[in-house]
Amino acid sequence: MKIGILGGGQLGRMLALAAYPLGMRVRVFDPAADACAGQVTEHVCAPFGDEAALRRFAAGLDVVTFEWENVPEEAARLLAAELPVRPSPAALAAAQDRLAEKNLFRSAGIETARFLPVDSLGDLESAVPAIGVPAVLKSRRGGYDGKGQYVVRSVADIEAAWAAVGGACIVESFVEFERELSIVAARGLGGETRFYPLVENRHRDGILRLTLAPAPGLTPELQAAGESIAQRVMETLEYTGVIAIELFQCGDKLLANELATRVHNSGHWTLDGAATSQFENHMRAVAGLPLGDASACRPTAMVNLIGAVPATAKVLSVEGAHLHLYGKEPRPGRKLGHVNVTAADEGQLQRRLKAVLQLLEEAS
Ligand code: AMP
Repeated sequence: MKIGILGGGQLGRMLALAAYPLGMRVRVFDPAADACAGQVTEHVCAPFGDEAALRRFAAGLDVVTFEWENVPEEAARLLAAELPVRPSPAALAAAQDRLAEKNLFRSAGIETARFLPVDSLGDLESAVPAIGVPAVLKSRRGGYDGKGQYVVRSVADIEAAWAAVGGACIVESFVEFERELSIVAARGLGGETRFYPLVENRHRDGILRLTLAPAPGLTPELQAAGESIAQRVMETLEYTGVIAIELFQCGDKLLANELATRVHNSGHWTLDGAATSQFENHMRAVAGLPLGDASACRPTAMVNLIGAVPATAKVLSVEGAHLHLYGKEPRPGRKLGHVNVTAADEGQLQRRLKAVLQLLEEAS
């Protein structure tokens, strides 16, 4: 079985690394010559609009998947005319537009922040009083890691918000959440599903820094609520593969914020903390194989290495620390790797995590 992946960043790299033990071969497509998945697998290097290159990429593949949410839908559709693309190009497109995403949640009966589409300054002027302040203006396309967003704290901020973000947008109510959670789930070709435990995510400057898995204090009721959200989204999209949904927790209520139709940073802990990693389960799903157990084996924390990496020997000297480097050149704000910290219990996890965070501080 040979699997093609659109996008060749760290997610593609970790997907490839999970595929080899299953006897699969992998080829990635990425416009960047130094795409880090290219270090571990075959790499077709061309722009996504290059149809001849896409056909060259497709030759000899059994199935195509993707690891980057901004892969142009047309590239996925062109390939889908020749071979199976999983998840479907429609699922890819659903997560590329915040309005489509919010409408998808709504049509599946899933609660979100109040929102309205906004296409002009005039729209924003009438939408903000309807939504109430504070509100968040978000561009519909291309925003990630908190980019393309502006918090409107009063009507006096409207013009500045429009100047900063503008274009096709949505405005939504600002949610006073207790914490941010996410659920990663997988759906197989025959409709079989697996759900990872909900995890807690901590961000700084819009970038994920830390994931605690399972989320501390996770109750069966909250897990069931998260699973029901993921189940409804996967069914609506007739989904195949791994999906991630970012959630806001307000008391015992979950609001859906964002959808990722791919493996997700908040699922990286599964490499060392779950019975089957999200990467392996994604490859199993798109290849039509049975899915693996998604339960957590032990408390795990995932720490992203952003902009700088501590010395390997120092990280590995912390008991229970598992280092995953992506082979990328250091640059400020760039995700270069992550450390999964595993432990037998919460107390031990906190001590080990503290040691790793200390190393990060020293390296930055
Ligand atoms: P997003 O790109 O939608 O994931 O937003 C990035 C981050 O901004 C989220 O992880 C939240 O911390 C914050 N955020 C986004 N939308 C809202 C909202 N409606 N209310 C409060 N915080 C938000």
